[in-house]
Amino acid sequence: MIRNDLHVHSIRSSCGLHTLLEIVSIASAKGVRSLNLSDHGPALGRSINFGVFTDLRRLPETVEWGAAKVRVWRGIEANLLNIAGDTDVPPKFVHRFDIISLGLHACFELAGLRDEARNTKAFVNAFTRRGVDLATHPCIKAHPVNIDAVVEAAAETGVMLEINNTNLRLGKTDVRKLERMIAKALDCGALLVESSDGHVYTEIGENEQVETLLSRMGLDPDATLFNRRDKALDAYITKRKQDRTP
Ligand SMILES: [Zn+2]
Ligand SMILES: [Zn+2]
Repeated sequence: MIRNDLHVHSIRSSCGLHTLLEIVSIASAKGVRSLNLSDHGPALGRSINFGVFTDLRRLPETVEWGAAKVRVWRGIEANLLNIAGDTDVPPKFVHRFDIISLGLHACFELAGLRDEARNTKAFVNAFTRRGVDLATHPCIKAHPVNIDAVVEAAAETGVMLEINNTNLRLGKTDVRKLERMIAKALDCGALLVESSDGHVYTEIGENEQVETLLSRMGLDPDATLFNRRDKALDAYITKRKQDRTP
């Protein structure tokens, strides 16, 4: 179980199966302490009403529903759009999201080329512009990057790097590259996190693939994964959000 699951999708994305309250119930039953609801940014084709979601007068920070209780981070999985590092985060909500995640998906203007050098440049440029907290699935086979360069940029800019449990389950991950990412991140001080990228109840809060991978590498998950440290994670999220608030 992931204590702080930093990547979950709801029906607000076209890929998630559950509502927020269903996700809270599922996560709480598994013992999850907090989750980041990180639905896709608008470039993937679905317009989302972020206003209600980010308004604390409407949705409390900790969602309690029946017997369930989970801290819900207001997130977005933004899309990289181009080499300059532009993303589709709605500008007027930039300072209202708790966590801004960033992924390479089919809407990247050069996605079809599978061009490692240009994919890398796009990520590094986006990190450097300081609007990103978490890079999702950097080792996905469909969108290859130079992982050494991405890890170095993440270390310099404080961006968290994800180990994605569901993508490992589904065979979407370049596992050798992921092992290299983990080793390099530990070497240069980049933050590593475990996430489910859960779309359905069988995925939300689950981390068995991450545990297996780290144990195969001889690593202690508690010492390796930044999001197993509640206080440090909370402080990180608060600080990054403050830094982008005008
Ligand atoms: Zn993604
Ligand atoms: Zn996702």
